[in-house]
Amino acid sequence: IVIGMIAGILVGAGLQQLMPNGSDFIIPLGFFDFSTRSFVVDGVFEVVGQIFVASLKMLVVPLVFVSLICGTTSLKDTSKLGRIGGKAIALYLVTTAIAISFAMGLAFLINPGEGVNMTTSTSFTGREAPSLAQVFIQMFPSNPFAAFAQGNMLQVIIFALLFGIAIALSGKAGERISSLFDDLNEVVMRLVTILMNIAPYGVFCLLAKLFTDLSLSAFGNLISYFFVVFFALIIHGTVTYSVILKLLSGLNPLIFLKKMRDAILFGFSTSSSNATIPVTMETVTKKMGVKNSIASFTVPLGATINMDGTAIMQGVATVFIAQVFNVDLSLSDMLMVILTATLASIGTAGVPGVGLIMLAMVLDQVGLPVEGIGLIIGVDRLLDMTRTSVNVTGDSMVTLIVGKSEKQFDQTIFDNPDAGKKIE
Ligand code: ASP
Repeated sequence: IVIGMIAGILVGAGLQQLMPNGSDFIIPLGFFDFSTRSFVVDGVFEVVGQIFVASLKMLVVPLVFVSLICGTTSLKDTSKLGRIGGKAIALYLVTTAIAISFAMGLAFLINPGEGVNMTTSTSFTGREAPSLAQVFIQMFPSNPFAAFAQGNMLQVIIFALLFGIAIALSGKAGERISSLFDDLNEVVMRLVTILMNIAPYGVFCLLAKLFTDLSLSAFGNLISYFFVVFFALIIHGTVTYSVILKLLSGLNPLIFLKKMRDAILFGFSTSSSNATIPVTMETVTKKMGVKNSIASFTVPLGATINMDGTAIMQGVATVFIAQVFNVDLSLSDMLMVILTATLASIGTAGVPGVGLIMLAMVLDQVGLPVEGIGLIIGVDRLLDMTRTSVNVTGDSMVTLIVGKSEKQFDQTIFDNPDAGKKIE
């Protein structure tokens, strides 16, 4: 997968040189003209890349539903669910608040928007942040099949939890259904493993296409914005997470980060924590030793409500846009940004580019012009990829901490560098 990723970036960057700004490279073959763009970039790369992402997404709903039911029924004492959920949600929210505060602090220190003169060309209309009451109401599906069809993760989680609890309370009938779900879980996990075999080609094609189309001309004035976000993401993903993991679980952060590699690469190439759920699940259970009873709950929950990387982008972007438009942010504005960004992350799914929609809510809350988003949109794709990697790392870290504290964790798997490496 690493080779696929590096090769994809190199090939894409090479093709970008050959065909800058969407132009084409035609090879006349006599009987027909071979268009590199239509045959290679929009043909092979696009088709294979999109099929790969679609197959990952295809697994998400069945995987979350089946494994969460297995997780709930295997807990034996389902009253523990409240405690596990409470711990996970508290950690998710606290780490997001830390992320955004750090990002805003850094942005105030470096002032990426100072002296920048830009006008927006793209218009962007915002959406109001949902109230906390709405967020809670919308978590409960009135029609579970609609929730499956739309891939509404919070609703699928709630339905699976209730279904799992009912199975655990249903005596003999429950045992029969439960063993059926255990078997189904094996099969779905096998499907994940099969898919991992084609991952290097999928990652290669996705990145080759992306880097062919990536235009660096958008950077200009945004270079310092880009690097402040990028730097904050790297520090949060490595230093902050390592400190939190060490403090709260005593586990070795280096082993953790090393084992995260595949999930980080998947997050990076798909820009979607949701699509990465199958890989994150594999990573935390098979490579790190967290039991399915915890991971099946905390990983999909994290993919939806925990977006530290996105919060970092929002923190820096708010400061940047305020500086470009010469607006002073008061302390209460900043608190408002932290609160809105943290709450907005609860109701929004981890899919590409959703961070910008959340940013619109944040800007609206503090009275900054939502069109400001048009300023930063040009460099958002690369940042989206990077922050998704941070998001999935955060989900896995919290899963590890909760798993360890609930004693649903196998230290020998965590310590074994080869655990879960073999793909059969
Ligand atoms: N793409 C991000 C994710 O899936 C969300 C975002 O920041 O746009 O985690």
